[in-house]
Amino acid sequence: MALLSVIVPCYNEEENVAYFYQELMKNASFFQEKNLELEILYVDDGSKDKTVEEVCALHEKDERVHLISFSRNFGKEAGIYAGFQKSKGDYVVMMDADLQDPPSLLPEMFSYLEEGYDSVATRRVTRKGEPPIRSFFARMFYKLMNKISKTEIVDGARDYRLMKRPVVDAILSMTEYNRFTKGIFGWVGFETKWIEFENVERLHGETKWNFWKLFLYSIEGITAFSTAPLAFAALMGVVFCFLAFILIIVIIVKTLVWGDPVGGWPSMICILSLVSGVQLFCLGIVGQYLSKTYMEVKKRPIYLVKEEL
Ligand code: UDP
Ligand code: MG
Repeated sequence: MALLSVIVPCYNEEENVAYFYQELMKNASFFQEKNLELEILYVDDGSKDKTVEEVCALHEKDERVHLISFSRNFGKEAGIYAGFQKSKGDYVVMMDADLQDPPSLLPEMFSYLEEGYDSVATRRVTRKGEPPIRSFFARMFYKLMNKISKTEIVDGARDYRLMKRPVVDAILSMTEYNRFTKGIFGWVGFETKWIEFENVERLHGETKWNFWKLFLYSIEGITAFSTAPLAFAALMGVVFCFLAFILIIVIIVKTLVWGDPVGGWPSMICILSLVSGVQLFCLGIVGQYLSKTYMEVKKRPIYLVKEEL
C-alpha cells in the first residue's frame, strides 16, 4: 500500500475544517481502488478561532487526521514547509482548507502520476469573483516576473499540487527563510503536468489577502527569484553618468561660445531632484536585497510548533 499525505494549511478556518474532510472523503472509493492509505495533516498557522478544536475533534473520530499547530501566525509558506517536513507519504498533495482547490480533481491528478509525471500542478484559467484591478496587477506581476527571472512562474498557478516523494524532498532541501513557494516549485524542476480548472470561490470566511499584502508578496517573489532589479539599478547609474557627461560638454561649449551669465537654477533643481530620486530608488532596491539577506543570515526557524497530534 502507498501512503498519500494531504497537507492543509489553515488560518482561522473553523467553518471549513470539517467540511474539507467531508469533501476529501468523497474520494474514499478512489483511494481504496488505488490502494492508497491516507494521512491528513492540518497545519494550524496560529489561528485565533476554533480551528484547533475542530481538528482535534476530527482526530478523535479518525486517527488518520493529524494536527500541527504553530505558536503564532507564520504564514502559509511556513505551513506548507512544516506539512512537507512532517509528511511521510509516497505521494503528497497540498490543498487549501477553503475548498478552493477541489478534492474532486484528485483522481485525474493521480492518473498523471501513474503515467510517469513527477508532479501535477493546477492553474485556474479564470479569476472569477476577484476584483478586476487585482486580476490586472496579478497578470502584470506574472508577466514581469517571467521576464526578469529564469525560474518559470505560471500565471494563475495555485498551490494545489500532487507530487511524488523525490519532488517533496527536493523542496525540503531548499531551507531558505523567505519562501516564495510558487518559485520554489518552478526552481526544483521535475516533469510537471499542468491541469486547468475554473476558479472556485471560497466556501466560508474571508481571504487573508488584501491588495497591500499581495503587493508585498510580489516584491518577495521578485527578490527571491530574480536579481534583475540590481542590474537595473546599475544600468540606471550608467545611463545617468552618460547623460551627465553630455550635459557637461554642452555647458562647457555654451560657456566658451556665449559666456555664461548665472541662471538656469530651475533646471538645476529639477535635475537635482530627479537624480536624487533615482539614487534613493536604487538604494531602496539594494536595501531590499540586503534585508532579505539579513533575514537569511539569522537562520531563524521557519516555524515553531506548539502542539502536535
Ligand atoms: N493560510 C495560512 N496562513 C496564513 C494565511 C492563509 O495557513 O497566514 C491558509 C488559509 O487558511 C487557506 C490557504 O492558506 O487554507 C489560502 O488562503 P486564502 O484562502 O486566504 O488565500 P487565497 O485562496 O485567497 O489565495
Ligand atoms: Mg482561498
